[in-house]
Amino acid sequence: MKPTKTVTCDVLVVGSGAGGFATALTARLYGLDVIITEKEPVFGGTTARSGGWMWIPCNPLAKREGFKDSREAARTYLQHEAGNHFDAARVDAFLDNGPKMVDFFQEKTEMDFTLGPAFSDYHPDAPGGMPGGRSVVATPYDGRKLGKEIARLRPPLKEITFLGMMIGSGKELLHFFNVTRSVKSAAYVGVLLAKYGRDLVSHGRAMRLTNGNALIGRLAKSALDQNIPIWTSSPVKDLIVEDGAVKGAFVQTEDGITEVRTRRGVVLAAGGFPQDMLRRKELFPHAPTGAEHWSPAPPGNTGDGIRLGERVGGKAIEGLPNAAAWVPVSLVPRRDGTSGPFPHFIDRGKPGVIAVTKNGKRFTNEANSYHDFVQAMVNACGDNPEKAAWLIVDHPTIRRYGLGFVKPFPVPLTPALQNGYLVKGRTLRELAEKLGIDAAAFEQTIETYNRDARQGEDPQFKRGSTAYNRYLGDPDHKPNPCVGPIENGPFYAVKVVPGDLGTFAGLRTDADARVIDESGNAIPGLYAAGNDMASIMGGNYPGGGITLGPAMTFGFIAGRHLAGAGANAVSNASRPAA
Ligand SMILES: Cc1cc2nc3c(=O)[nH]c(=O)nc-3n(C[C@H](O)[C@H](O)[C@H](O)COP(=O)(O)OP(=O)(O)OC[C@H]3O[C@@H](n4cnc5c(N)ncnc54)[C@H](O)[C@@H]3O)c2cc1C
Repeated sequence: MKPTKTVTCDVLVVGSGAGGFATALTARLYGLDVIITEKEPVFGGTTARSGGWMWIPCNPLAKREGFKDSREAARTYLQHEAGNHFDAARVDAFLDNGPKMVDFFQEKTEMDFTLGPAFSDYHPDAPGGMPGGRSVVATPYDGRKLGKEIARLRPPLKEITFLGMMIGSGKELLHFFNVTRSVKSAAYVGVLLAKYGRDLVSHGRAMRLTNGNALIGRLAKSALDQNIPIWTSSPVKDLIVEDGAVKGAFVQTEDGITEVRTRRGVVLAAGGFPQDMLRRKELFPHAPTGAEHWSPAPPGNTGDGIRLGERVGGKAIEGLPNAAAWVPVSLVPRRDGTSGPFPHFIDRGKPGVIAVTKNGKRFTNEANSYHDFVQAMVNACGDNPEKAAWLIVDHPTIRRYGLGFVKPFPVPLTPALQNGYLVKGRTLRELAEKLGIDAAAFEQTIETYNRDARQGEDPQFKRGSTAYNRYLGDPDHKPNPCVGPIENGPFYAVKVVPGDLGTFAGLRTDADARVIDESGNAIPGLYAAGNDMASIMGGNYPGGGITLGPAMTFGFIAGRHLAGAGANAVSNASRPAA
């Protein structure tokens, strides 16, 4: 490539999600000269669209709250989850450095973490599993602190906002569910809406950042405070390799090709391959052409980082039972004729919600994790080329909890019925006929389910049997927060199809986040973080935040290693600069 100019730095970070920012900030705070380069006109990647949860066992917040967790228990849990893909060296690095990462960012940057005390592991009854305390989330942030840079922050996923407003997880979401039932909740929501209205008038967007937007808002503010340049609309096109070592990269900028020479290394943090049709086709069994899959990840995550790594001898991990973190999505029609994927995280756990496939039958405990739900759905569809299911509810349930993109009372159902997102039947048979599913089997399914659901039981799939199920349920619904009958028509359905939150099958790395070649040797000058790095979860999804927790932690590890501080000890020579 013929560059129009050359710049030199210690570290070039490719991508501005959690993996990229965590690496860049750590390296900078250890005194290195860092540039972040981002392909898209906005920074933040999938991270900015995410829930912002980070799974960090034995995190300092849980310790302060007195949670009885241990490194051994977490290691046992990960060993159980990852099975044959358990990578002891990287898991140990993660467990040792996760809590240190939280302290480091909390002390030295704008980052602030909030504990999810009741956010259960997704398999809490497995060996080493915990019913809460391992997930932390970025505390909401005032977007005004970013000044004019707020314009470059990727907005949240439109489909999961309420009229463009971000709703925080946990207590905040509960207030929204209870808005017509509690004066306190109504007042809480009223204040948030008033503030949002004010922000819209003065800034044209929500300035109260929550979840992934808060995470990126906080990281970006910290990076800007440290004078880390964030080049947007600047994709990396190729790596520079000399004498077997990565020495920089060619970046497409508005001035042409810029040659970035690096003294320490290049970090691939380009967010995996959720939008790479070819690799989807190769690695997602339910998507034979790549198109039978709908990802809420941004369009720029086309697997560039993994390809760049492979071109210089890196290798993407193979044979994982799942190449990505699955989530069921429904497709919300937009005014321009396109549709946006709505990820179904919590509605499946509410009482009175079940899922059936085309044969009219249930196929799983719907309150299990989104990753487990999609696997069960794809299996249940067998040879049917369409891998899909329908979430089914009755009238009281949809008005109480909403369903997918459809909000609870008092938000009207009509727009969703008119655009076809929500399907309604006065009777179960009418609903089945409209959906094109086996009506007789469907009626039988509901009858069987209701017989036990009236007593709060689900002998077939045991909804409500785990702490995670109950976390998603309605604590006020007795006797089982996840089970209620479906009996008061009209009845409603929303169709769900396979989607992902991010990919698992990234580049193989060592415990210092260095990309390794086929023989297991580190490629000098090349690191990976976030989803460009092969997940340490072995294709499973153990708990809330298992992509962002490792992304932040291995970013922290990579930044320190680049600075010569090693993964596990801060050397005196490289004390943080701030
Ligand atoms: C709705 C939703 C909710 C989620 N909630 C959670 C959660 O709560 N907890 C959790 O752990 N995970 C969650 N996830 C998954 C999580 O968001 C991703 O796994 C994570 O953000 C990936 O981080 P990353 O740093 O690897 O990549 P990203 O955040 O995607 O950032 C990568 C960046 O690299 C850029 N890039 C790509 N190619 C190039 C190139 N050639 N040159 C320069 N830049 C490039 C991209 O444009 C992108 O901005 C969620 C995902 C979604 C969609």
